[in-house]
Amino acid sequence: MKTFEVPVIYRSPLISAIKNKRKEQDRMKKDFTPTVLDLGAVRILLARHFGFCYGVENAIEIAFRTIEENPDKRIFLLSEMIHNPHVNNDLLSRGVQFLMDTSGRQLIPWEQLKAADVVIIPAFGTTLEIEAKLTSLGIIPLQYNTTCPFVERVWNKAGQIGQKDYTVIVHGKPGHEETRATFSHSQAGTPTVVVKDISEARLLADFITGTQPASLFYERFKGQYSTGFDVVQHLQRVGVVNQTTMLATETQAIADYIRDVMQQHYQLTPATIHERFADTRDTLCYATNDNQSAVTGMLQQPADLAIVVGGYNSSNTSHLVELCEARLPTYFISSEEKILSRAAILHYDFHHKQELQSNTFLPEQGPVSILLTSGASCPDALVEGVIRKIARFYNAEEKLEAAI
Ligand code: SF4
Repeated sequence: MKTFEVPVIYRSPLISAIKNKRKEQDRMKKDFTPTVLDLGAVRILLARHFGFCYGVENAIEIAFRTIEENPDKRIFLLSEMIHNPHVNNDLLSRGVQFLMDTSGRQLIPWEQLKAADVVIIPAFGTTLEIEAKLTSLGIIPLQYNTTCPFVERVWNKAGQIGQKDYTVIVHGKPGHEETRATFSHSQAGTPTVVVKDISEARLLADFITGTQPASLFYERFKGQYSTGFDVVQHLQRVGVVNQTTMLATETQAIADYIRDVMQQHYQLTPATIHERFADTRDTLCYATNDNQSAVTGMLQQPADLAIVVGGYNSSNTSHLVELCEARLPTYFISSEEKILSRAAILHYDFHHKQELQSNTFLPEQGPVSILLTSGASCPDALVEGVIRKIARFYNAEEKLEAAI
């Protein structure tokens, strides 16, 4: 896979060495067991795959190069480039300005942009409406484009099934930048509706089968269907695509469920199901699959707790947390700064969108086993910071250096 020039501050010699060694030993990526850092009183089990993915490194390389090559220009990002506060703050500190927040709320009015300005499209991609807006302001919309190719692959898939007259069901978070972009690209070619989870997929199925009155659809899916969507006409042939970072098991469950509903409702067989249901397989990206499989592999090991490092608004990171917290106490932190002491930690509850403090973080009695992973937008340097801080609590710095 292509390698990128990423600022050295985001790298970690420790993590790079571990990743390179695992890659050499397992080129086909079949082994999802964690790497064990045995520091005596504490064992840290590092997931097989974590940290910066292809799309994030690509976006960082383009953004930093753009800043370097345009010292005299004003540089804007449509919104956060990726969901990591450290990377976004670094860009802000270099003079980059965000035009919108992650929910699409305008921070800087369009009217303030000039044709000579540089506008960078984030890794999530953007909507056709925003591209048109930039064009109307004299700005070439895709000149500085960091849209991840795996996101574009979803748009292409939606386009392909749309051309065959299937309606596109997008499994994604309706407010997420990527899902908004996918929705926009998809609806340009075919009727499109967004479902955020399996319960919304069940609700949609009620409209497919006519169990619920059609008029209710427009209320229940408000803001999630394309202009002119006809609930009676447009749910007769469907296909499912996903936001690239959803939980793999849920994505599979939704696609299987909708296919079963179509099969039963229209009395189809496996040989004729394609008449009503497009086989898209899932459109999750490789990093989502690898990172979630690595967490599943890591969870096979006995451990006392798990730590997941990443931006609090990062979708892919929150799904790693979801997997871990189903099995053991899990702390979602943005960096080692959140670890206040051996007992106290500030961590994010993404279900209720609030940061909490726990005062029973590391068990008093050892030895302690900790599972550790991070999201696809999290610099490895932050994970190393967490490892070093924990090693200090157990006076294991020398052992860590020896391990390095
Ligand atoms: S998580 Fe996947 S889709 Fe998102 S930027 Fe990374 S590789 Fe691309």
